[in-house]
Amino acid sequence: MTIFMDGFSVKTESENQFTDITGRISGSVSRSGLSSGIASIFLLSTTSSLIICENEGGLLEDIVRRAMFFAPDDIEYRHNKAWGDNNGRSHVKATLYRQDLTVPVRNGELLLGTWQSIFLLEFDVRPRERRVSITMVGDV
Ligand code: ZN
Repeated sequence: MTIFMDGFSVKTESENQFTDITGRISGSVSRSGLSSGIASIFLLSTTSSLIICENEGGLLEDIVRRAMFFAPDDIEYRHNKAWGDNNGRSHVKATLYRQDLTVPVRNGELLLGTWQSIFLLEFDVRPRERRVSITMVGDV
């Protein structure tokens, strides 16, 4: 068994922006030389999330609308008073989803279903640079 570490940054521009990071994670798996095992993907953030879903525009809008229903723009957030960064709703939305994913690696590739893509979903109210860490464990 071998362990490989990798990672990359993602620049985001706006709230509720999806960035497809499937290719970048696949690239890490390829570089690792791993033939079978798991890839653990971790997002170092409290105002953005990792999501696996179909890359279909209506669905991506549905996900954002659900998050906005859960944490509307027009209510008071105590966090905003604590820090003045005005992103209380962003933190709350991020808790709806995950900051970690585990995907199997088979035959040197991520084992994803036909319609599965991996997205970083930005919830913060200003542009950010996100760090994604990937830990791959398995056999070469
Ligand atoms: Zn904050």
